[in-house]
Amino acid sequence: MKIIDFHSHFYNGKRADGAEEYLVGRGLVLKTADGGLDGVLRWMKEANVAFSVNLPVAANPWDAAEMNIRAAKYNSKDNPVLSFAAIHPASPGLEDMLFDIKRAGFMGIKIHPQEQDFYPDDERMKKVYKFCSDNRLMVVAHGGAGTENNFDRASLKGEPAIFRSVIDDYPGLKLVVAHMGGLQVWDDAMKYLCAKNVMFDTAYCTIMDDMLLKEIIAAHGAQKVLFGTDFPWQTYKETADKVEKAAASREELELIMYQNAENLLNK
Ligand SMILES: [Zn+2]
Repeated sequence: MKIIDFHSHFYNGKRADGAEEYLVGRGLVLKTADGGLDGVLRWMKEANVAFSVNLPVAANPWDAAEMNIRAAKYNSKDNPVLSFAAIHPASPGLEDMLFDIKRAGFMGIKIHPQEQDFYPDDERMKKVYKFCSDNRLMVVAHGGAGTENNFDRASLKGEPAIFRSVIDDYPGLKLVVAHMGGLQVWDDAMKYLCAKNVMFDTAYCTIMDDMLLKEIIAAHGAQKVLFGTDFPWQTYKETADKVEKAAASREELELIMYQNAENLLNK
C-alpha cells in the first residue's frame, strides 16, 4: 500500500548531531545515515514511503527565518518531500514572516506549544491563526505532552481543551493536532477534539494501547486521520504496523495511509 508520511523531521547541522546521538542511544532509525535530506530519502526508499512532509520546529524565536530558507530549498527540488515552514510566537516580525511564508509557497506551518512554551490560545497566535485561515495555510501543532513518563500535567501547554477553543474561534482554519490529538492525554483528545473540525496524525502512536488507537480513529473518523511517524524518532514500519491493526477496514486504512494526505496536499 502507498504510504505518505505527514509528520517527519529532517535535521541538519547542530540538531542532526544531537539527533544522531539520541537515536543511536535508543537503537532507533539513524545509525549511520544523517538526518538530512539524503538520509531521509534513503530510508523512505527502503520502507516504500512515497512522500514525506517535513515539520520543522523553531526551538527559539530567532531560528525560524533561517530554517525557512532551508525548508524552501527542499521544496524547490524535485524530491518526493515537502516542507512546512517554522514559526515561533516570539519571533521578531512575525507578521512579515507569515507573508514571507505565504510568498514562498509553503502549504503550512508547524507549531509546538510544549517546546516553544505557549498555550494554543496565546494572544500572539491570534494573528497567526487569522492569517493562516485567510490564506489557506495549514497549521500542524504538536498536541499533548512529550514522550517522557510521569510528565507534569500542570506544565502541559498543548491541552486538547485549549485546541478546542482555537477550533471554535477559527472555523475556517485547517488545523492538524498531531499525535492523535494529544500525546499521552488521549482521554481529553477524545473528550474535546474527536469528531470536531480538526485532523489528527498518527505520529508516535506506537506508544498507544492498540484498543485506544482503534477507539480514537473510530470516534474521530478515519477521513480525518493522517499517517505520520515522527521520523526519525520512530520507524515507518512500526508505525504502519500499528495503524494497520487499528484501522477498521481496508478503505479506512487507505484513507489514513495516503488518501487523506493526497487530498490535503493535492498530490
Ligand atoms: Zn514531531
